[in-house]
Amino acid sequence: MKTTISVIKADVGSLVGHHIVPAPLLEIAEGNLSRAVDEGLISSFKVFHAGDDLELLMVHDRGERSREIHALAWKTFQEATEKAKELKLYGAGQDMLKNAFSGNIRGMGPGVAEMEIEERRSDPIIVFAADKTSPGAFNYPLFRIFADPMNTAGLVIDSAMQDGFKFEVLDSKLNKRVVLQCPEEMYKLIGLIGTVSRYSISRIWRATDDQLCTVTSTTKLSLLAGKYIGKDDPVAVVRAQHGLPAVGEILAPFLHTYFVEGWMRGSHWGPLMPVSLRDSKCTAFDGPPRMVALGFQICNGRIASDKNNIPMVADMFDDPAFDLARQEAVKMATVFRRMGEFQPARLSEESMEYTTLPEILKTLKDRFKPT
Ligand SMILES: [Mg+2]
Repeated sequence: MKTTISVIKADVGSLVGHHIVPAPLLEIAEGNLSRAVDEGLISSFKVFHAGDDLELLMVHDRGERSREIHALAWKTFQEATEKAKELKLYGAGQDMLKNAFSGNIRGMGPGVAEMEIEERRSDPIIVFAADKTSPGAFNYPLFRIFADPMNTAGLVIDSAMQDGFKFEVLDSKLNKRVVLQCPEEMYKLIGLIGTVSRYSISRIWRATDDQLCTVTSTTKLSLLAGKYIGKDDPVAVVRAQHGLPAVGEILAPFLHTYFVEGWMRGSHWGPLMPVSLRDSKCTAFDGPPRMVALGFQICNGRIASDKNNIPMVADMFDDPAFDLARQEAVKMATVFRRMGEFQPARLSEESMEYTTLPEILKTLKDRFKPT
């Protein structure tokens, strides 16, 4: 039996600047996806938000890149955009780069992470969703989870993981991809994915049997639009247990903060803060960049649900175990903000290419004289 998990997300307008997706937009998504369940298009869903990004988690049997599923998401984002315009919310329709739906939502602005799986005896899934950062933000934790034996005990202890994992890495500049296997090619992998502004991990398979275990959204809005129109705020779907990293190993890299590109105007390095859904809202300097983690079990083609048919979804970072990471993030945020617009607080010149800064600096062009 094959089941598909689709997470499709977009920033279509938020309440008070880039803070949160307000209830009227979430209600539109809930309504549309509930109807889609009644019509048999999807089996179950969860609507949530990562800061100002509206996230549609949908489970169905139509496979990856399904026209119907993508159309459902597109229509939902369009209706939410209309509501955002009506309420004069900030950045209404921001990620909707195209007017007409062309059969696949990829390349139209919204971010997509989809995984078709052969259901195992038990299939625990973690969905990560981040705000105020970019796809490269997953490089560091995914490396820790699937390649670092100091993080993932299973790499040492579990015989199913002895051959390691294969990583597909996307080069956003040349629009090319490469697959590297760990542990054999670990140093080369780090050589690539350490450059988070350009390379991002898009898929991971278990090396022994090519079982797909992670997908991420890799949309680069600036490369699609040719200019800065907000950060790409990625999502990832990660499978756990039974010869894959345990749920706890998947969450362990978030015991500490680490630095990601994004934050204010998508132009700064900022400490990533793992937060509960309750705290999924960016404030200070439009941040710090935040990540939520949702956990659930796939059961007979749908999200395992309670007696009222409500999908049971766990809020994985809603736990004092991540308090230290949150405190570190706040401390690091203040250190970086004290540096203002001086590097390394601000991104590299190359990463600033798609912002409005080059336009401003262009006005000085004729004033430069030979030395
Ligand atoms: Mg966002």
